[in-house]
Amino acid sequence: MAKVVIIGAGGVGTVVAHKCAQHPEVFGPIVIASRTKSKCDAVADSIRKAVPQAPEIYTDRVDADSVPELVELLNRHKPVLVINVALPYQDLTIMDACLECGVNYLDTANYEPKDEAHFEYSWQWAYRERFEKAGLTAILGCGFDPGVSGVFTAYAAKHHFSEMEYLDIVDCNAGDHGKAFATNFNPEINIREITQNGRYWQDGKWVTTGPLEIHGSLTYPRIGARESYLLYHEELESLVQNYPTIKRARFWMTFGQEYLTHLRVIQNIGMARIDEVDYNGTKIVPLQFLKAVLPNPQDLGENYHGETSIGCRISGKDKNGNPLTYYIYNNCSHEAAYRETGMQAVSYTTGVPAMVGAMMFLTGEWVKPGVHNVEEFNPDPFLQQLATDGLPWEEIIGGDLEVDKL
Ligand code: NDP
Repeated sequence: MAKVVIIGAGGVGTVVAHKCAQHPEVFGPIVIASRTKSKCDAVADSIRKAVPQAPEIYTDRVDADSVPELVELLNRHKPVLVINVALPYQDLTIMDACLECGVNYLDTANYEPKDEAHFEYSWQWAYRERFEKAGLTAILGCGFDPGVSGVFTAYAAKHHFSEMEYLDIVDCNAGDHGKAFATNFNPEINIREITQNGRYWQDGKWVTTGPLEIHGSLTYPRIGARESYLLYHEELESLVQNYPTIKRARFWMTFGQEYLTHLRVIQNIGMARIDEVDYNGTKIVPLQFLKAVLPNPQDLGENYHGETSIGCRISGKDKNGNPLTYYIYNNCSHEAAYRETGMQAVSYTTGVPAMVGAMMFLTGEWVKPGVHNVEEFNPDPFLQQLATDGLPWEEIIGGDLEVDKL
């Protein structure tokens, strides 16, 4: 049993902590630390009620923007691994503290500076040598997408393809929470991501599009047709490097018309701005203010119905060099996620893979000093565990991927 520190007690942190507690044979004691300790206490209480076999759970307070505070936290608890499910802004400070204290690291989103809506792996990949020299493993992007999307791709490469040529990651949320506008994870991070230019990989270079400019209808299992929009998503960056035979890599996400109308208004009236404005002598960032008045993603679960469906549609050459189309996906029910953890499916599909990645590290399956994306590890034990921990996946071989019409 190994001690872990989970940093972040939002929707995703709650799921990670619940799922770790369900596996006292691997995890324990568990420390939940965040900026607001009362939130960690509430998560710990809910776990003690829901999971009778839970190991000891401690809570603590930390400002993860501060390396000295993080170092104190890690020296106080001496964990083997930090599971970082705070915000992408804290990735580098937490990695610095891990290096200083000799602790391994896992996260679900790549680093993004607060004052620039721009994410890429270069900042975290720059830590490779230091983690390697320290004999520490850092696992990057271990949620669903990024995360399972990379593991699905690694599984396809290992078991089905000799050459993958076209990769489309498709992310559908067909759930209905009954609110006019709400985001499914941290609103600030979510709106920054969606309002950026789109970007995809084509024949060895990145092609930039306007925000949500390219879209079309895709059919999702057990859901049906949904309008899907091309976004830039971080896992594309590592996947095209790790699988150089890929000629085109794209990422699609579904949005309803109501959501898009609200988003357009938010942008048009300046509420998506991330620079400071002066309001009655106080400096505020409009998007951070908006977050404070929007529904909290953690509170959406109770009335959320329907499913998410996230997967990879891949074509290329099979192990014998013949043409192959392949679709691997998971559907997750908002209701089932809520019954188990009190959180909706978007937090659940992120938190479960983070726990499974941590379990892979702690059981020795995914130990590799350095800084690595998930597709660099063996996908088989991960996907086996994912299926038994609430996210079963399915494969369709030789079907119509629909993506060429987009
Ligand atoms: P929430 O906003 O619900 O929770 C974030 C948590 O981090 C809160 O507990 C917050 O504390 C804490 N936090 C923020 N800043 C600090 C800080 N400086 N020091 C300590 N704690 C801090 O976010 P979510 O749970 O929705 O998302 C968590 C992460 O998961 C994000 O990085 C997001 O990008 C990622 N994600 C990844 C996905 C994937 O598939 N890979 C999908 C969805 C999300 P407090 O509330 O006190 O401010």
